[in-house]
Amino acid sequence: MGSLWLRDAPAVPSSSLPERAEVAIVGGGIAGVASALHLARAGIDVVLLERRTIAAGASGRNDGQLLLGLGEHYNRIHGQFGADRAPVLWDFLQQNHDALLAELQRAGIACDLRREGGLRLAETPHEWRELQQASTLLAAEGRPHELLDADEVRRRIPGSAGFHGGLFLADEAIVQPARMVRGLATLAVRNGARLVTGTEVARIDGDAGAFALTLGSGQRLGADVVVHCTAALGRDLDQSGLLQRTLFPFRGQIVASDPLPAALARTFPAWAMSSNFCYEYFRLHRGRFVIGGKRWSVPGEQLDVVDDTSHDERISANLIAYAHEHFPALREIDFPDVWTGIMAGTPDGLPLCGALPGTPGAFALLGFNGYGLGFAFLAGKAIADMIADGAPGHPALPMFAPRRFRDG
Ligand SMILES: Cc1cc2nc3c(=O)[nH]c(=O)nc-3n(C[C@H](O)[C@H](O)[C@H](O)COP(=O)(O)OP(=O)(O)OC[C@H]3O[C@@H](n4cnc5c(N)ncnc54)[C@H](O)[C@@H]3O)c2cc1C
Repeated sequence: MGSLWLRDAPAVPSSSLPERAEVAIVGGGIAGVASALHLARAGIDVVLLERRTIAAGASGRNDGQLLLGLGEHYNRIHGQFGADRAPVLWDFLQQNHDALLAELQRAGIACDLRREGGLRLAETPHEWRELQQASTLLAAEGRPHELLDADEVRRRIPGSAGFHGGLFLADEAIVQPARMVRGLATLAVRNGARLVTGTEVARIDGDAGAFALTLGSGQRLGADVVVHCTAALGRDLDQSGLLQRTLFPFRGQIVASDPLPAALARTFPAWAMSSNFCYEYFRLHRGRFVIGGKRWSVPGEQLDVVDDTSHDERISANLIAYAHEHFPALREIDFPDVWTGIMAGTPDGLPLCGALPGTPGAFALLGFNGYGLGFAFLAGKAIADMIADGAPGHPALPMFAPRRFRDG
């Protein structure tokens, strides 16, 4: 069961496996690809190993929304991290966004990028109050946004129903994610990175300067440094046990409609849209309505589900019911496409980006809690900087340091 995106993204050719590399990256999603690109640009000999194809995991199966705030409303970020750290976190995400979009444009990566904004919608009066609180905090820090009341939401999205208001962030964007990640991968190759696909890493031994990666085929690769970019799927490769202890997988599901009649498609803006604290998310892609979420609507909430070749019919039905409730004109439309993808969560909702304590020379970039597209590009640069010259980097990086989970 492939995604709409993976069906329409040119494959990236595989390199042959060398005996050694300065840096070995495990995992070919956006985290591995961004790290490979920045390392190659820094002149480092880097090999990326991916068990399937580039972007075959969550990076080619998501909703393609480039969001600010890791999917949280800004009042909640303030509540969790405090007035000192919340702006530092938001700045990192904004800078990730600017750097990624500039790269896509500079490199001419054809990925249906639309930087026209994003709208967080309130499904309840309570969420509307939270969006107003978020707006107050954003305004106090001079961060551009717009608060839309229920009438204004209906004016901007004619045909929508049942929303209590919304918060518009002009900088958010949508992309075709598999094309974006594969485009960045091609750029990494042009800069000298070697991407070896169809190659599973079965085991990693050793440490700085003397890592030995054993592949499923029995072949071996030597490396000075290893970067874990396997989301929650390669936790056992980390000898320190931190990834096993810290990361948890959960499965997301998306359905996509047939192309809408042109007049109906025109009633939807080209925005990243979501409601219910980003648990439900939707956007238009080439005239199709693409919506994900509702994992909370089934027992177990898809926690610890790691099979992305199947889906849950109840979740599809609940997503389509949501679409019918909030956009009644969609009742006439079929939703023939469905797919799933596996995300990686962390206990505090923040990603891991940095050195893995206990194993010198091992780094991790993973655990994006469902929002990696809005984080991983600049974080890949941070990983490259740490490896290339131990640079202290962005002031937000201590918030993402794996060592915060050192003691379990
Ligand atoms: C339904 C859904 C909707 C989402 N919507 C959004 C969204 O709109 N916006 C957003 O920002 N994020 C979204 N996300 C989250 C986003 O897709 C992820 O945060 C991001 O893609 C994670 O990137 P990654 O590189 O860490 O992981 P992945 O893309 O999963 O890559 C990890 C790779 O590691 C490989 N691998 C694992 N083990 C091994 C091994 N032993 N050897 C070799 N390779 C291995 C896997 O095959 C995989 O390709 C969504 C996710 C899903 C599933």
